[in-house]
Amino acid sequence: MLQAMSGEALFMGRLSHDGDLLAELTRLCRERGITAGWISAIGAVKRARVGFYDQVARQYCFLDLDLPLEITNLTGNVSLKDGETFVHAHVTFADDAGRAFGGHLAPGTILFAGEVLIRSFATTAFQRDLDAETGLFLWRG
Ligand code: ZN
Repeated sequence: MLQAMSGEALFMGRLSHDGDLLAELTRLCRERGITAGWISAIGAVKRARVGFYDQVARQYCFLDLDLPLEITNLTGNVSLKDGETFVHAHVTFADDAGRAFGGHLAPGTILFAGEVLIRSFATTAFQRDLDAETGLFLWRG
């Protein structure tokens, strides 16, 4: 299912030092009333927590990276879950040797600095429900 998007608005801003990256993105989207959108960000974190979805066990495993890292890329989307603005983001980090780590962005990733671009769309069509095939909360098909 593909849906044409309209009512585009762009927001660009700085993220808070010591803020939780996922909570910060969610707060900014909720403050602007964004119900659908796309997020891109770069910056640095003091530590990171990312998830990997175990497709057999149908649960997330988490990796804690307790070291300073660059955010080399964050890509995410905004939709609705239980009627609330919900951010889903994946992120890639690099350490001081350029080694990359990444995964599903989880709470517990603490910002050093960050810059974000959010592209929002005027729709409430993207809502998440539990998907029986995957065990994930996916967009209604
Ligand atoms: Zn994910």
